[in-house]
Amino acid sequence: QSFTAKFKGERFKRLMIMGNFSLLAAAARRLEGKVALITGGASGIGESTARLFSKHGARVVIADVQDDLAESVCRDLSSSSTSFVHCDVTKEEDVENAVKTATRKYGKLDIMFNNAGIGGIAKPNILDNDKAEFEQVIRVNLVGAFLGIKHAARVMIPAGHGSIINTASVCSTIGGGSSHAYTSSKHGIVGLVRNTAVELGQHGIRVNCVSPYIVATPLAKNFFKLDDDGVHGAYSNLKGGVLKAEDIAEAALYLGSDESKYVSGHNLLVDGGFTIVNPRFCMFEQS
Ligand code: NAD
Repeated sequence: QSFTAKFKGERFKRLMIMGNFSLLAAAARRLEGKVALITGGASGIGESTARLFSKHGARVVIADVQDDLAESVCRDLSSSSTSFVHCDVTKEEDVENAVKTATRKYGKLDIMFNNAGIGGIAKPNILDNDKAEFEQVIRVNLVGAFLGIKHAARVMIPAGHGSIINTASVCSTIGGGSSHAYTSSKHGIVGLVRNTAVELGQHGIRVNCVSPYIVATPLAKNFFKLDDDGVHGAYSNLKGGVLKAEDIAEAALYLGSDESKYVSGHNLLVDGGFTIVNPRFCMFEQS
């Protein structure tokens, strides 16, 4: 073999290896080129999702009411591909502005993650429940998602595609897990997701929700008076792990990526089987 042929062979091999590496890198970055808007992205599940989406190549806009926290998350991620917009999801003009900010900065909106939420006040007795407190939870958790879907749809319809993800909860499918207001708001999200999935599917837009079991975020720690870890795993059917915000971010990544291109109107429960059985009514041994 002549020196030139050998050299060319080596070069070809090296190019093949480099090609495979770039294919692998592309596969590892599942949101390359996409633009995502995440409400409630300053903390907990939203923050983890912002970090994961960014790692997968998305340009991310965080919309939240906690300005300092959101800005510190943005500073941590690349400044050219992450930004923050102050947004109270109960205010239509704020949500509209958040969508406009994403499209103005990055040219489009591929993924809308309506995730902002509050736990409200834990009052189990309906006679103690105030109308104003009930309405506030509905306003943030349900009306906020409605506004997010509406204003995302405004830009996604002309584009002919998009993925809208909403954070519901295990409380979207069972009763008794939280307050009346919270449970109502999360059941409402599922109804809203199903209805809008039917309408927006006509425009190539998918609408889904992800429903977490308890994750030790500020919201849950405050509502359930939890420690950082542990206790909340006690009710799950799945032993050997503790649900983290990162696990919900992975579910959102799936729903936002093209891997879920035919999934719409779905409520993806990430609950270790919590909602499929009441452990007291279980024929299998419980430890
Ligand atoms: P979190 O408190 O860490 O994050 C919630 C974020 O929403 C915060 O950054 C907060 O500033 C923001 N937010 C609150 N009100 C807002 C408003 N009006 N406008 C804009 N942003 C607002 O809590 P989390 O657990 O990460 O909550 C995220 C979502 O997950 C919520 O919808 C919650 O209901 C849902 N969820 C949480 C759990 C859990 O156990 N943590 C379980 C099921 C569902």
